[in-house]
Amino acid sequence: MIEVDLEACSGCQKCLKACPFAVITIIDKKARIGDGCTMCGACVQVCPEEAITIERKVRDVDLSKFSGVWVFAETWENTKFRKVTFELLTKGAELASGVGQELCAVLLGDHVEPLVKELAAYGASKVYLAEHELLGQYNTDAYSSVITGLISKYSPNMLLFPATHLGRDLAPRVAATLELGLTADCTGLTIQDGLLLQTRPAFGGNIMADIICPYTRPQMASVRPNVMPMCEPDASRTAVVIKETVSLDPKGLRTKIREMIKTDIESTKKIDEADCVISGGRGMCTEENFNVLDDLAKELDGVVGASRMIIDLGWRPKSVQVGQSGTTVSPDLYFACGISGAIQHTVGMRGSDIIVAINKDPNAPIFEFAKYGLVGDCNEIIPTLIEEIRHRKAER
Ligand SMILES: Cc1cc2nc3c(=O)[nH]c(=O)nc-3n(C[C@H](O)[C@H](O)[C@H](O)COP(=O)(O)OP(=O)(O)OC[C@H]3O[C@@H](n4cnc5c(N)ncnc54)[C@H](O)[C@@H]3O)c2cc1C
Repeated sequence: MIEVDLEACSGCQKCLKACPFAVITIIDKKARIGDGCTMCGACVQVCPEEAITIERKVRDVDLSKFSGVWVFAETWENTKFRKVTFELLTKGAELASGVGQELCAVLLGDHVEPLVKELAAYGASKVYLAEHELLGQYNTDAYSSVITGLISKYSPNMLLFPATHLGRDLAPRVAATLELGLTADCTGLTIQDGLLLQTRPAFGGNIMADIICPYTRPQMASVRPNVMPMCEPDASRTAVVIKETVSLDPKGLRTKIREMIKTDIESTKKIDEADCVISGGRGMCTEENFNVLDDLAKELDGVVGASRMIIDLGWRPKSVQVGQSGTTVSPDLYFACGISGAIQHTVGMRGSDIIVAINKDPNAPIFEFAKYGLVGDCNEIIPTLIEEIRHRKAER
């Protein structure tokens, strides 16, 4: 239930501007909340007098009214999807069929409707679409208030987020606003007795924990990119589009993006979407030596990744760190150059199709994961490899 303490309300209109569904009016200098309120909580967050309160009796809700498996569809510059969206739709389809409910996608952005057909091709039978110029770039306040509003209005049973930078910011905000649970970084999702069984590593990866949310809805989980397989798209599929009208006021958003500056590395292909990743570790010895990996990446049309050691040394940005506290990758070809193979690194790359390890220590753990192992000095082997590739290309 949402209530306005009329004595405390100063009629400042901040709630009116923050409400994405435009259901607040000011009468006699007091805020009045209309029938269409979805209890998204945007007004509560901005009220300087704390005059608006929401009481959520989550455990009293009728769980049977919640239906549908939703996937948050993450886009890139409003023109294409992050690959993880399709991975989540693939898993979502399996979950939806497990509970006999429909698979839906939630698409937010600015002029993103042309992307709907791709969501349908990957299995979504319904797409909740919210378009607004203020949704064109990710903003925590805007996205979370629209999504909590949609949840309150349509009552999904499950909601999956990508555990990307965006998803890691958005999903907890939505969960906290609605006072729901969220299982982050799941490695497995299945249906057990009608509930979403969420599996994720716990205690530093030493155990796998199975988590359920029996009392609240939606059941919410996030999944890292490249952890779950992706189905083949079927372009003949179609989806019902539910267009939501949202009204967002820039004054109601606490953060503003003034300028987007992309680093050279960030403007190239993302590490979790590349077919070939060439990663280097401390065995590359110097920053200058490390740069030879860029040459190898260029020859193989790949991107350069790194172990955490390299990020800690400041040689490469965090966005290219592979592993437990970095990014999970599963390319067709993965090179581990001068990387020992610590568990925190290998959990992030062991799903790769072909792993090539180069290490001067024949007993390095990385060789246990490698299809091809080269024992020797990286700084001799890699330049030789590049030379050989160039030579063979020239011969073609
Ligand atoms: C909570 C936590 C989270 C973590 N998350 C991550 C993560 O996400 N990603 C990650 O990578 N790590 C992570 N780590 C760190 C991880 O435990 C290791 O310390 C790290 O992966 C080691 O990096 P490395 O293999 O580059 O260096 P090292 O372990 O020092 O290994 C260097 C390797 O290079 C070889 N070598 C040396 N010289 C040469 C040469 N000239 N030619 C060939 N080989 C050579 C050596 O034999 C050795 O095997 C995490 C640690 C913790 C505690």
